[in-house]
Amino acid sequence: MTASETIFSKIIRKEIPAEIVYEDDLTLAFKDINPQAPVHILVIPKKPIPTLADAESHDHALMGHLLLTVKRVAERAGLNNGYRVVINSGEDGGQTVNHLHLHIFGGRQMNWPPG
Ligand code: AMP
Repeated sequence: MTASETIFSKIIRKEIPAEIVYEDDLTLAFKDINPQAPVHILVIPKKPIPTLADAESHDHALMGHLLLTVKRVAERAGLNNGYRVVINSGEDGGQTVNHLHLHIFGGRQMNWPPG
């Protein structure tokens, strides 16, 4: 495995199963295997950017596309009353899979502040 090879790389290549809810040329969205809310979906770039801190200026368009994908996926999931989007970045951020991902949480009232 290379440094950027993670379990999410295998999901992108369809080598391991995932409940994929959306896919396009640049992004993939699938249900989190350990959901923390009634709706818990991960949106990832197919490009293996390890953390948000590794995103570069030339990833500008991809970063915007990821957020618009979040919006589209949330709409499709019926989250009309709102939802939360979280990016854990790095060790202190609580990131456990080193492939950039945006969590979408919905279907219940979210609390603040997060832990
Ligand atoms: P983070 O802690 O922000 O790095 O989040 C990683 C997320 O990936 C966690 O919520 C895990 O439950 C989720 N996860 C890990 N492996 C899988 C998998 N094979 N399929 C779906 N979600 C996964």
